[in-house]
Amino acid sequence: MNFRDNTLFRQQCYIDGAWIDADHGGVMEIVNPATGERLGQVPELGAGETRRAIAAADAALPGWRALTAQARAVILRRWFNLLIDNQEDLATLMTLEQGKPLAEARGEITYAASFLIPPHQADKRVLVVKEPLGVCAAITPWNFPAAMITRKAGAALAAGCTMVVKPAPQTPFSALALAVLAERAGLPAGVLNMVTGPAQAIGDEILDHPLVRKLSFTGSTRTGKYLMQRCAGTLKRLSLELGGNAPFIVFDDADLDAAVAGALVSKYRNSGQTCVCTNRFLVQDGIYDAFAARLTEAVRTQLKVGNGLEPGVMQGPLIDEAALVKVERHVADAVAQGAKVLTGGRRHALGRTFYEPTVLVDVTAEMLAAREETFGPVAPLFRFHKDEEAVQLANATEFGLAAYFYSRDVQRVFRVAEALQYGMVGVNTGLISTEVAPFGGVKESGFGREGSKYGIDEYLNSKYVCIGL
Ligand code: ADP
Repeated sequence: MNFRDNTLFRQQCYIDGAWIDADHGGVMEIVNPATGERLGQVPELGAGETRRAIAAADAALPGWRALTAQARAVILRRWFNLLIDNQEDLATLMTLEQGKPLAEARGEITYAASFLIPPHQADKRVLVVKEPLGVCAAITPWNFPAAMITRKAGAALAAGCTMVVKPAPQTPFSALALAVLAERAGLPAGVLNMVTGPAQAIGDEILDHPLVRKLSFTGSTRTGKYLMQRCAGTLKRLSLELGGNAPFIVFDDADLDAAVAGALVSKYRNSGQTCVCTNRFLVQDGIYDAFAARLTEAVRTQLKVGNGLEPGVMQGPLIDEAALVKVERHVADAVAQGAKVLTGGRRHALGRTFYEPTVLVDVTAEMLAAREETFGPVAPLFRFHKDEEAVQLANATEFGLAAYFYSRDVQRVFRVAEALQYGMVGVNTGLISTEVAPFGGVKESGFGREGSKYGIDEYLNSKYVCIGL
């Protein structure tokens, strides 16, 4: 083989900036499909080397993402230039291993390079038409029986999709009332449909039906994973808003009044039963005792527990017995491992599924409350010393929905907000949900965004029409 630059013909793999052979020395022979002749060999890598490549990409991520777009552009531009400069060799190499005519191979190199720096084609017009996905399905939870439906249906219907909604079994009436008003508003028949009944039977039909082009789900991570697997059968688009394990970091320089007010909203709203509810309070050493005392005081004096129809009540019951048992299990586990109860810590005297708003101190990372979503009115306070420790603790979970922190130092605000691996970050506020911002998570909290201009994209296809002039 004769290239202008023979070093382009490599028979090794590239991991972490090094050219390597397989750990076990194995190789794979590559043959010219036009002649049957052996072209060369490449390493036969396996799981171990792939793991190293993933680790290398992970280690390189902080540095690469921190570069300015301009700095990245300089390198990409150079790569583009080098592809074009070496077009002849690259095309020859491609024809040798792939078989396509040299002219086509040259064309592909230009095309490949174009993705690095897209040029403009003078004789083409590019048209992108946004089209509704079609029939969409929504499966929603009980903790926000109305908003979780309108959050999906609002975007879907605005985009021109139609929708089948399966509300949570505990809260069908809010859903049905929304449908009454939708009908009254003039929504044509069939555009919005409400289906109550057994989750399995309804779910199976939604999941397998080829006409359903998208599923938007809010609920547990366990169910979300199951639904995602099932959606593979018909390759449905998906939005999944799943569980969280929200940290609420209080730095030494926080405004204590604001932090306590934010803590009350983000922890005890809806009795702690929202997916963005704080699950873990990470409090810096210097402010820990003051924060614990003030939060306890606020919980005792401000959170009246009772039937939500009674005036002045700030906290209702938990949704069911299973929810109550989970809260009890988290508290018992923390106490058994050395945590202390500052207030609450047991079932409320009202009985049923009422639980006392609770504050726990001396909570540690080994306790259940650190790892699982409690989904109840329990505030566990962890202690930390250095900023990095707080960020590390905050990120040490498979979830990534909402995070909160309080600080008055502008540098710290940016540094921590960027370091938190979460889809949403509240800085000096405990309330972040709003229809004008994109709501959604990363990691095992799911993907897809709801609300704002980003939310509507989830219900649209971009159809590309290329017109030659
Ligand atoms: P939780 O009940 O704790 O809110 P789930 O994720 O189980 O969490 O429930 C959220 C929604 O998902 C509810 O509407 C529920 O009925 C629905 N759901 C649960 N299991 C399935 C399933 N197998 N198929 C379809 N929907 C399901």
